[in-house]
Amino acid sequence: MSHPSDEDDPFEDIREKTDNPMKRLFSEYGSRNLRYFGLGFFGSVAARVLDLLPPLLLGIAIDAVFEQNVPFDLPLVPASVIPTGPRDQLVFTVGIIAFAFFGGSVFHWIRNYGWNSFAQNIQHDIRTDTYDKMQRLNMDFFAEKQTGEMMSVLSNDVNRLERFLNDGMNSAFRLSVMVIGIAAIMLWLNPRLAVVSLLPVPVIAVVTWKFIDVIQPKYADVRKTVGHLNSRLENNLGGIKVIKTFNTEGFESERVDDVSYDYYDANWDAITTRIKFFPALRVIAGIGFVITFAVGGFWVLGEAPFWLTGGNELTVGVFTTFILYTQRFIWPMAQFGSIINMYQRARASSARLFGLMDTPSRIVEDPAAEDLVVDDGEVVYDDVTFGYDEGETIVDDISFEVDGGDTLALVGPTGAGKSTVLKLLLRMYDVNEGSITIDGQDIRDVTIPSLRQSLGYVSQDTFMFYGTVRDNIAYGTFEADDEAVIEAAKAAEAHKFITNLPEGYDTEIGERGVKLSGGQRQRLSIARAMLKDPEILVLDEATSDVDTETEMLIQRSIDKLTEDRTTFAIAHRLSTIKDADQIVVLEDGRIAERGTHEELLSEDGLYGHLWGVQAGEIDELPQEFIDRAAKRASRTEAEAGDD
Ligand code: ADP
Repeated sequence: MSHPSDEDDPFEDIREKTDNPMKRLFSEYGSRNLRYFGLGFFGSVAARVLDLLPPLLLGIAIDAVFEQNVPFDLPLVPASVIPTGPRDQLVFTVGIIAFAFFGGSVFHWIRNYGWNSFAQNIQHDIRTDTYDKMQRLNMDFFAEKQTGEMMSVLSNDVNRLERFLNDGMNSAFRLSVMVIGIAAIMLWLNPRLAVVSLLPVPVIAVVTWKFIDVIQPKYADVRKTVGHLNSRLENNLGGIKVIKTFNTEGFESERVDDVSYDYYDANWDAITTRIKFFPALRVIAGIGFVITFAVGGFWVLGEAPFWLTGGNELTVGVFTTFILYTQRFIWPMAQFGSIINMYQRARASSARLFGLMDTPSRIVEDPAAEDLVVDDGEVVYDDVTFGYDEGETIVDDISFEVDGGDTLALVGPTGAGKSTVLKLLLRMYDVNEGSITIDGQDIRDVTIPSLRQSLGYVSQDTFMFYGTVRDNIAYGTFEADDEAVIEAAKAAEAHKFITNLPEGYDTEIGERGVKLSGGQRQRLSIARAMLKDPEILVLDEATSDVDTETEMLIQRSIDKLTEDRTTFAIAHRLSTIKDADQIVVLEDGRIAERGTHEELLSEDGLYGHLWGVQAGEIDELPQEFIDRAAKRASRTEAEAGDD
């Protein structure tokens, strides 16, 4: 990898492909907000120009009004409007200075309004676009990336862009107007003294450049370690149940301590470098100031050497203006470094954001795709082979036919590939070989929304969104009326417990609301599927972890749900699927046995023995099955060890 410090960057690969992200940021997002950019730009320039007026006027007033050794005249102001007497001239000067301050405030407001609107609008657009794109990505993307990483792109990277677009651009314009403006006025007033006063500028530029070079890799380290820290914290909070039950709080605290210490270390390293930078600038600025003061002072006294003055005079007024300006442009220069820094971070962030937006979808809809039309709901798997990674086979040569309205159950040991077989039907992944058809239509040839619309999915661990019970049942069928929701809940045996909740269907659930039990959530998810009324249903381990009565309720509601619907069911407890029209036993991604419950029992294979164990008829699986399972387990471990 080309940037060793970025090797932990999960988006490295996609980021590399995005060239010139800042240009793209401005052309794609900046152009939509041109008027705000214009306001910010105009406000910045105008405000800074007005900021430069008072020192200049003070210098002129000293010479023309107080010392009265030069005539009062102002650049760009016609002589006819300038009053004559010193008193009137002073009033005139005070008037302009007052106007400069007042006008300056107005332009500062305009500039802030412009830049903030520009930054906020782009931030909003980018965030929503990225989110929109991200949720359309394939499941394999989510399987590979951690949620924390994606959260970090959606929040940190977007915020970093905002900071640059607001503070960074704001400062950049201030810096340019100040430095260019001051240099121009100085050169106009007294070119020779201007050269002396501007001496620190190149020195500051070089020092800043060096500083950036040194601090960059340190900041990269800080980012990397904070990433590790966040992942660890997130992982631990997610696994808090395990931590508690295994009594490993001490162990975990130590692990957090370790990563936190790495972060501390990296941060401290960056801090020690950073806090040397500003004193160094102060020294350079101080030297510049002292030199200007000394040269100018002797010049005013008429004691500066001829090669320096060229025989010109320096008035007290011009000297004062120079001193005030010298003070003013050094500090904006110091921000030069942080602007470059902000720019580079923003560049990396937009590269990540665009990288994410450009991630190709592995599942693409055929442009000629037509909507799926489900008639009977007959599903056919024909020689389906699939692996998550190239060269890997997880599901091998699977074929079966399910007639419309029938139920097919998939059983087999954990890791046999049952969920994978069904993920292929939902088209979360595409098959490598073979095909899956619904009523004769290959699922790769139909539009994805129409496919997903025809499929319902009920799993053991159904996600509930923040919102009310009603919202969660109607999720995906948003237009459903209350009656339909209640009917679905009744069919799912959920109506009774819902009406017992504090606010019935309007009860808030989720983290901030009422906590539901596993069995309750499951019934809500069944109600959700009832309401959606899909032609084909996928049940993933639909009953477990609940008491016998709840199980009975759930079973009854599932029976209602699956009636007249083509159904695929994965169940570990064989009692729940013994009435299935077809049972397919998977082992290592291949079909080991198939048939009805009765047929399989008479075969005396894996299914028969699993049934025997679960029904309590035999104490344990015969040795040959245990040996096979052990062999599988050791192979999986060896594979895991290879990683
Ligand atoms: P089952 O549902 O029978 O328990 P799965 O279909 O979940 O089996 O898993 C089959 C195999 O595929 C396992 O070896 C598992 O590690 C692997 N697997 C599952 N999901 C993924 C994934 N997203 N990426 C890579 N491998 C996966």
